[in-house]
Amino acid sequence: MAEVIFNKLEKVYSNGFKAVHAIDLSISEGEFMVIVGPSGCAKSTTLRMLAGLETISGGEVRIGNKIVNNLAPKERGIAMVFQNYALYPHMTVRENLAFGLKLSKLPKDQIESQVNEAAKILELEELLDRLPRQLSGGQAQRVAVGRAIVKKPDVFLFDEPLSNLDAKLRASMRIRISDLHKQLKASGKPATTVYVTHDQTEAMTMGDRICVMKLGHIMQVDTPDNLYHKPKNMFVAGFIGAPEMNIRKSLLVEKAGKLHIAIGNETMPLNAEKQEKVSAYAGQEVFYGVRPEFVSAIVASKLTDGLDVDNAIRLFENGVQPKIMSGIRALGFGPYAAEDVIRLAHNGVDVATFEALKAVAGTSAPVEHAIQFRQNGVGMSTVREAERQGFKNLTFEQFLKLHRAGVI
Ligand code: ADP
Repeated sequence: MAEVIFNKLEKVYSNGFKAVHAIDLSISEGEFMVIVGPSGCAKSTTLRMLAGLETISGGEVRIGNKIVNNLAPKERGIAMVFQNYALYPHMTVRENLAFGLKLSKLPKDQIESQVNEAAKILELEELLDRLPRQLSGGQAQRVAVGRAIVKKPDVFLFDEPLSNLDAKLRASMRIRISDLHKQLKASGKPATTVYVTHDQTEAMTMGDRICVMKLGHIMQVDTPDNLYHKPKNMFVAGFIGAPEMNIRKSLLVEKAGKLHIAIGNETMPLNAEKQEKVSAYAGQEVFYGVRPEFVSAIVASKLTDGLDVDNAIRLFENGVQPKIMSGIRALGFGPYAAEDVIRLAHNGVDVATFEALKAVAGTSAPVEHAIQFRQNGVGMSTVREAERQGFKNLTFEQFLKLHRAGVI
């Protein structure tokens, strides 16, 4: 078993394109490291350089205490499982498992015992005499993993091994591969594993640690928990989590000695830990992120009656503030449909607008009227001006007409 170290590892393809930019990564012995990132971020290029399938343009790769830059794949002590498992079609499962060992000229009885051991671990014993075309996708992928296990490598490499399987099978293979890793660890033969995927669920459920890449750079290397709760940059914040985090621009304002985020006409105080962290940015434009799953049912119920979670999230994403809505309801206006609430928010309608509306037209005025008041800048000062001038019992339309004419 061995640790794996990348030291300023670089890849420049023959057309001059730099795919990997001097990355440093240290994978401990027996660790399950997932490399994840969107398509084109150079996950495969990185893994292939580790495997010896791609030349290294700069820096070094170490496996154990050896620099392996110039070693052939078979001299690196690795075994790789690919996306298309590429079993030999004319060989049985047993022969497929034994093939690599035969090539390395191991004695026959040793080959047999290693094949049997791998078959047992992966529950392939019943399938040993079948041909690949007689296997399901999941079974064939298990044989491909078995071919890697029989080699007893120092390092296991997986390149999107589950991408060709359907969702249900993917879920069960994920568990199988994780279990296999745990089993090897428990038996005193921990397998250093590097697993490449674009699927963040796979990454989050399988990795001891995860290396998130973007355009040939490492964005963060951390435990699943830290990536989720303490992303180091906006890319990781947006990439980890499904559905993804909502990220919005805001102003960091100081109120009563505390830093608040401005959201629409409202402000929200930051907790003590964050106060300290962002104190240098007081008064500046910042980004804040909210995970949809953190928008609670309490927020929803404060907005309007009978709101489901999807609508609650939509309201939140549209900047609707529970405080404003509860204020409007406190004035006696009834609950609105989510659609109406969003329109109110988009039009910047606030409690003050509804106060004016109540004074003029009572609490049964339609949403449309509130929007018109807001668009015309009608507020309580307009209502007072009308009173001062002796106007009484004006209808909504008459009131608006006088305001537009500049009388009040
Ligand atoms: P990923 O596995 O994350 O999808 P790859 O490692 O396959 O990404 O590719 C990383 C980048 O390198 C991409 O922009 C890709 O187009 C480029 N690339 C891959 N192979 C070659 C090649 N042989 N020549 C030039 N560019 C390549």
